[in-house]
Amino acid sequence: MQLIDGKALANTIKEEIAIEVDKIKAKGGKIPHLAAVLVGEDPASQVYVRNKVRSCEKVGFESTLIRKDDSISEADLLKIVEDLNNDDDVDGFIVQLPLPKHIDEHKVTLAIDPKKDVDGFHPINFGRMAQSLPSYLPATPNGIMVMLERYGVKTSGKHAVIIGRSNIVGTPMSILLSRKAKVGNCTVTLTHSRTKDLAAEVRRADIIVAAIGIAEFVTADMVKEGAVVIDVGINRVEDPTAKRGYRLKGDVAFDEVAPKSSFITPVPGGVGPMTVTSLLMNTLKASKKEVFG
Ligand code: NAD
Repeated sequence: MQLIDGKALANTIKEEIAIEVDKIKAKGGKIPHLAAVLVGEDPASQVYVRNKVRSCEKVGFESTLIRKDDSISEADLLKIVEDLNNDDDVDGFIVQLPLPKHIDEHKVTLAIDPKKDVDGFHPINFGRMAQSLPSYLPATPNGIMVMLERYGVKTSGKHAVIIGRSNIVGTPMSILLSRKAKVGNCTVTLTHSRTKDLAAEVRRADIIVAAIGIAEFVTADMVKEGAVVIDVGINRVEDPTAKRGYRLKGDVAFDEVAPKSSFITPVPGGVGPMTVTSLLMNTLKASKKEVFG
């Protein structure tokens, strides 16, 4: 079994990005600039956005954090998006989800200029991804693809089983793994809450991507010997002995599944750090106008 160390890989890629930024600076070029919009006080969102801003600083990007109270109106949020679309200094931006219930998330996503949509959530980017055209790939699936590539995991001809069909993880993951590409060429089964005999489907997998949001859902009896196991889940499980009163657990029962797997990602320290790094990669692409020209 080989552990896929997302934290170490994320640091390596951040160092590579920092070197590129130094070169841009030395030539007097424009420093990549990421803006993030955070609405409300959701604790997980605050942690994610803080990590994103910190990571920007670490690689030498400029960053702007726009914080708004959760009473902000949809119209006012859409105005912020429009201003960011028109701000030539901002290369890319994200609006952290989830948004308060009175705001239509889809409307906000659609309002973001696809050229600045470094989260890759806009249907234009999603459609371009599906057609293998240049696009900003959604951060978490992109991070997973980079992990598979850098660890030399063979994907061609393999059977990948994705658990969970969300727009941000499961569905794009199924598209990326099935694409005709260096990392890709898998035969993909996309499973979800209505799948019959999910365990039997997962047992057939050479590559498992678990993105369900249920702690330790994937157990050893569901995993074929030698499978590659990618655990996307981040679940808070109460634990009075932990400093914060909870521990983070993945969607995979790591201790029992790891001995059966050929490669496995831990939680924390696996997919999570790569997600933030993907956003930095997309922002660098945006500043170099690599995707839309
Ligand atoms: P989501 O809630 O939007 O989607 C969950 C999916 O799981 C749904 O498609 C649903 O059909 C499926 N599902 C739910 N119960 C199921 C069951 N019993 N059997 C089969 N399928 C079932 O979740 P999401 O946004 O894709 O996130 C999934 C997990 O990944 C969460 O724990 C989330 O916190 C985590 N996540 C982590 C990162 C990261 O950077 N590591 C990024 C995004 C999400």
